Amino acid sequence: MDPFQLLIIIVLIATGSYFFNQILDLVNLRAHRPGIPSDVAQFYDVEKYERSRAYHRDRTRFSFVTSAFSFLLSITMLLAGGFGWLDNSLHTAINNDIIRALIFFAIVGIAGDLLSTPFQWYGTFVLEERYGFNKTTTATFVTDKVKGYVIAAIVGGGVLAIFMYMAQFFGRDFWIWFSVVAIALIFMINVFYTSLFLPLFNKLTPLPDGELKSAITSYAARVGFPLDSIYVIDGSKRSSKANAFFSGLGKRKKIVLYDTLIERHPTQELIAVLAHEVGHFKKRHVVWMFLLSSVQIVFTLFILSRMLYAEEVSIALGGNGLSLPLNLLAFGILFSPISGVTGLLMNIFSRSNEFEADRYARDTFDGAALSTALKRLSVDTLSDLYPHPAYVFFHYSHPPLLTRLRALMNS
Ligand SMILES: [Zn+2]
Repeated sequence: MDPFQLLIIIVLIATGSYFFNQILDLVNLRAHRPGIPSDVAQFYDVEKYERSRAYHRDRTRFSFVTSAFSFLLSITMLLAGGFGWLDNSLHTAINNDIIRALIFFAIVGIAGDLLSTPFQWYGTFVLEERYGFNKTTTATFVTDKVKGYVIAAIVGGGVLAIFMYMAQFFGRDFWIWFSVVAIALIFMINVFYTSLFLPLFNKLTPLPDGELKSAITSYAARVGFPLDSIYVIDGSKRSSKANAFFSGLGKRKKIVLYDTLIERHPTQELIAVLAHEVGHFKKRHVVWMFLLSSVQIVFTLFILSRMLYAEEVSIALGGNGLSLPLNLLAFGILFSPISGVTGLLMNIFSRSNEFEADRYARDTFDGAALSTALKRLSVDTLSDLYPHPAYVFFHYSHPPLLTRLRALMNS
């Protein structure tokens, strides 16, 4: 294909996905209704809810400004050949392809972030401040940014370096080898999440003996859940959001409960939440999600391998000749309609899993307790009670609260 036609296609796809997302946001903003259904209202602080809705409204309106800015910026860069110019300049200075790719993406990433920093600043210190949500100080804002850069450099840089190495060493077959690496990485994170990764950020303590522990143990025994240990995590250190999950493979399942969850929910509700999680295990959702993500990775990398070495893609972005970083960048845009569709399918699957896990909790334990627990959990996050169905369809991995409650009663 002619590089100019290719550039037009890239710009059209970027424009299409920009407008699509803005329209979804707008539709969702308009869907807001005042008032809270009576059975949920007893848990919600109405004033607080209304305030949080007003905050979300301002936030969305503000995001229209920031998205327009970054959209115009990327389109200008694409049409003016800015990415190609940057890559050509680096070519004359750096010989090593891997290092050049790392520097290319570091410059693009840091420049983009610096340009959006004034907007982030305004969002935190003006918007959030106005509604009394802001807990960030200037020092935290700066250190969070530095930490973000360090993590992006280590994780993103590491993955990119491995990718570049394989793309050079194996040529077009890199997709097979890099799939293996990526899937192994996700698998390891799954297996060692509770024992290795979580303790880096949080403190885990075994749940002490008592009413809660024996209630959990006897529920697990009754439904045949291979429970190994139960931990409490100090989630309150970071946010007021409550959660529970399990991890581990085979017969050594660890259950992790947030301290915030234990504080706010009676035992009956806690077991109902756990029963929902056990439902995910019993219905094999975890295995399926892992398999589907793996298929998605292999598919994406295969398509990428067909495009990564096409010289006309680099030239379309203003490059002098084949450049893997330029083609990676172009792939990110060209592939976005397809990844949009696969993401959508994953969300549909995930929402149906949530319904199924809810039913499992109801049938093996107590539907009413789960309903109350869901309401109480939803209050903590002040979740939107009336999201637009189209917005839910594309963006939500969990069904909205009212839909879940209705399904629990009726199905
Ligand atoms: Zn779930």
